[in-house]
Amino acid sequence: MEPLPGADPLLLTPGPLTTSATVKQAMLHDYGSRDIRFIELNQRICAGLLSLCDASETHLCIPLQGSGSFAVEAMIANQVPGEGKLLNLVNGAYGHRISEICSYLGRRVSVLETGEDRPVDVAGLDQALAADEEITHVAIVYCETTSGILNPVADIAQVVATHQRSLLIDAMSAFGALPLSAPEVPFAALAASANKCLESVPGMGFVIAAREAFPATEGNAHSTSLDLYRQWRSLNDNGQWRFTPPVHCLLALDQALVELEEEGGIAGRRRRYEENCRVLVEGMRELGFATLLPDELQAPVIVTFLMPGNDQFSFPDFYRRLNDRGYVIYPGKLTGTDSFRIGCIGHFGADEMQAAVAAVKQVLQTMGIRNLGSE
Ligand SMILES: *Cc1c(COP(=O)(O)O)cnc(C)c1O
Repeated sequence: MEPLPGADPLLLTPGPLTTSATVKQAMLHDYGSRDIRFIELNQRICAGLLSLCDASETHLCIPLQGSGSFAVEAMIANQVPGEGKLLNLVNGAYGHRISEICSYLGRRVSVLETGEDRPVDVAGLDQALAADEEITHVAIVYCETTSGILNPVADIAQVVATHQRSLLIDAMSAFGALPLSAPEVPFAALAASANKCLESVPGMGFVIAAREAFPATEGNAHSTSLDLYRQWRSLNDNGQWRFTPPVHCLLALDQALVELEEEGGIAGRRRRYEENCRVLVEGMRELGFATLLPDELQAPVIVTFLMPGNDQFSFPDFYRRLNDRGYVIYPGKLTGTDSFRIGCIGHFGADEMQAAVAAVKQVLQTMGIRNLGSE
């Protein structure tokens, strides 16, 4: 499939990703921040986000300007008090970023790390919480986008609840496509953004935080612009963000939430991503590529492929040739293993993924490689 002249490429990347024309069109308005339509837009979006994780009765939604990392940093600053201590479950770069945030914030952190191709250690978590009374919070990345691995967030939540600690979830690349129900997976707070499985444009994230404990978080934040307590107070008191709101992002997200609903909610979106993932993995394996993860650990979000050992295969060349055909993929992010990644999320389905695999096949041919597996 050759892209139309001037058409955007298909982004097989985990955000920014390909959005629908209607999501982009929704941004063709200028609303003032005191416009009643804008205030209602905020309320509708926050209510929609809470209902996606069955948290309308138990949690608050606090939107925030910036990319997803801003929301993660704000969540940690708001939730973990100065005298608190975080146990960070790490199996990839986003987990490490949480430790880095703690070190900037001056929050104590201890790390329980597993390999990038293994889920985090639930039994080890149980032991660590039993052994260290000072740990107040536990952090986990639901889908670790570094590798594409699914972490056992429900099991982790049970252990954390049993030990009566608070769970913080980086749900960035999961929210909107993987199940997360507050009554079943107790959590103190989660952070996510508009531009991954919600299929909206980048520019804002949000934190969903337990309502009962929220007033006690006043004063925890180290930063004015990332102070979630004050952001929530302002929205609650007068319907206003404290600083210039990303109006067009909110308009796009509102439309993206409508489209999520039309697709059958989280279950419907997940089915499409699972199909995208299946077509990708089967097609790439047929061409001789190998996945980092076994299928049972793979989230239908982004797939890591091992760099082929073939002498004729050069990744920069492969990337450029795919790009010329209208497909943008992602370099690898693993520490020890040479790899690249292809995303399954965004506004496209199995036909587009099939065409992407066909483009990979053509590219291999133009590189003079007939079959990676057999050479
Ligand atoms: C994308 C992502 C983030 C945030 O990344 P930004 O580039 O700041 O949007 C955080 N955690 C995970 C797991 C992610 O996939």
